[in-house]
Amino acid sequence: MRLRSLCVYCGSSLGRSPGPVEAARELGRLLAARNVRLVYGGASIGVMGAIADEVLRCGGRVTGVIPQALVDKEVAHHGLTELIVTASMHERKARMAELSDAFVALPGGVGTLEELFEIWTWAQLGLHRKPCGVLNVNGYFDGLIDFLDHAVASGFIRPSHRAMLRVARTPGELLAAFESYEPPVVNKWVGLDDT
Ligand code: AMP
Repeated sequence: MRLRSLCVYCGSSLGRSPGPVEAARELGRLLAARNVRLVYGGASIGVMGAIADEVLRCGGRVTGVIPQALVDKEVAHHGLTELIVTASMHERKARMAELSDAFVALPGGVGTLEELFEIWTWAQLGLHRKPCGVLNVNGYFDGLIDFLDHAVASGFIRPSHRAMLRVARTPGELLAAFESYEPPVVNKWVGLDDT
């Protein structure tokens, strides 16, 4: 599959080590070089601002989707190719999903995790067939990945659903995984057999 746009969920904070921002910038350079549009939450702060700035600096295209409430708090990035202002957080996430061919979480906090889990749930339900993943910068998501494997072993996540969430250590690996992604046939509710 040819990626035309990538949705990036990531921290509105910078974190305490340079790794996440460096990885965000590396991903930003790759997106610009490959003419893949960045779709993200539209903020100028944290890892979010870092990736948007790098895509723009390298001549790429960035669409930010931000609720009015966050514009009012003056966190919106006003130098983007396009800034879409929505009435609510729910509308924002739906717009980001529509505009994107694939979804990745970089290091972040509750907001990042919530967005990742929602879009993965929608994949599990068959509401979309687009790839989802995490960029596991310096092992940031190791504890989460261990927990997800524990949830599979405990019978609460199907192996086929777990396999939908791709884990990559570098931006190049992530884009390669997305470009070769084959969506499985899924049915969350019918049938208990699973592989
Ligand atoms: P967090 O991981 O908690 O820092 O939240 C970051 C994620 O939630 C981003 O992907 C955004 O879509 C959304 N978000 C949370 N806080 C903000 C903010 N101040 N400005 C813009 N988006 C935010």
